[in-house]
Amino acid sequence: MKNIVNKNCIESLKGSTDPIIIVAAVREAEAIAYACYDNNIKIDSFCDTEKRKTIDKFCGKNVIHTPEIKNYYKNASFIIASQHIEDVADQLNSMGYDKLYSALELLENFDLNAHKYLISNEYMNSRVSVYKKTHEAYFNKEYTYMRSLDVMVTTKCSLKCESCSNLMQYYKSASNMTYEKIINSIENICKNVDDISEFRIIGGEPLMNKDWAKIIDGILDRNPKRKVFIYTNGTIPPKDIDLDLLKKNEDCINFIITDYGEMSRNIEKLVEKIKLYNFTYVRTPPENWIDCSTIKHHKRSKEDLKEVFKQCCVKYVYTLLDGKLYRCPFIANAAHLKAIPDNESNYVDVTNDIETIKIKIKRLINNRSFFPACDFCEGRPYDPSSSVGYSGKGMIEPAKQTKNPIPYKLY
Ligand code: SF4
Ligand code: SF4
Repeated sequence: MKNIVNKNCIESLKGSTDPIIIVAAVREAEAIAYACYDNNIKIDSFCDTEKRKTIDKFCGKNVIHTPEIKNYYKNASFIIASQHIEDVADQLNSMGYDKLYSALELLENFDLNAHKYLISNEYMNSRVSVYKKTHEAYFNKEYTYMRSLDVMVTTKCSLKCESCSNLMQYYKSASNMTYEKIINSIENICKNVDDISEFRIIGGEPLMNKDWAKIIDGILDRNPKRKVFIYTNGTIPPKDIDLDLLKKNEDCINFIITDYGEMSRNIEKLVEKIKLYNFTYVRTPPENWIDCSTIKHHKRSKEDLKEVFKQCCVKYVYTLLDGKLYRCPFIANAAHLKAIPDNESNYVDVTNDIETIKIKIKRLINNRSFFPACDFCEGRPYDPSSSVGYSGKGMIEPAKQTKNPIPYKLY
């Protein structure tokens, strides 16, 4: 497929008479804005597909809702700050814009530490590094890159959110994945891709698996210096023996805590321990939940399926579950629950058929169309206020609990 984004931008944008817009209002857009100022490139505004991000200014500039941008600019040049370069390029191109640029050249000699950001310089550095790799992968189709890999260590959860986007609410007999299977699968994946920047340890609640720290230690032994993010709901205080094991990789460990209020019954103990061990953490309430967890056969046309996939914001959330690699958590869990027909086009079995894994993973990564499983999904659009490519109800109350597992149909 032909690239429609230009890799180099400095000379074209310096001499441009068009307004220049940065897409989107993401963290690394701030560094890209500074890189523009350093190169005497004048930015007009930002744009973003998420309506809620257009309420406040970003870096002192207006943020315009991307679908409405034609009302503001007939002609414009765009610098893509989003890591989803291909999706952004397709969207803008379909609106009639063709002056699209990556910020790779701007960031090449950029002195990141010469500026201060809304986030720490260290965090900005890692965001920019991931940005560069995702954009390099766009221009070099031989390079197989995963920004992050979600490692599902369990399907058990200490909460039962009825609209869990990872489909935990459907499991009647949830289980832990074994250390051996996870590590063996990750070794096989790593041998067959060029790079994975981050590992995200998820569940369910990952701390329900008593081997959670051993698994992280095993991953970091084989992938030193990678960032590991542990997604937890604050219900389980970690044991010292587990934190001791992770201490040697202190710089790599990050806890992402969702604060469910009273339901996160051990959150204070968890935070206390994290601080004691000097790990970094982020604590945020559950917000911006969208209805996306119903498993239903929609029987969409090929064109509609392409639209659902195009609009989907989690289609690059590579998920490892029980020895299989998927493109998103919905497919992973719908398949694991056996709710949808078993179809090898939906995944790569990374425990089998070692000779062909490389080709299969490449095919999975490069799929730009849709997966058969997408026809059983409501969709999960970048812009939750839009109904394009989405069959769900929109925004919903987060973390509403169900007492019993929710019944589901086996298709
Ligand atoms: S806490 Fe809720 S949203 Fe998170 S994994 Fe458990 S059930 Fe899902
Ligand atoms: S649309 Fe497809 S890729 Fe996106 S969440 Fe649904 S099943 Fe996954």
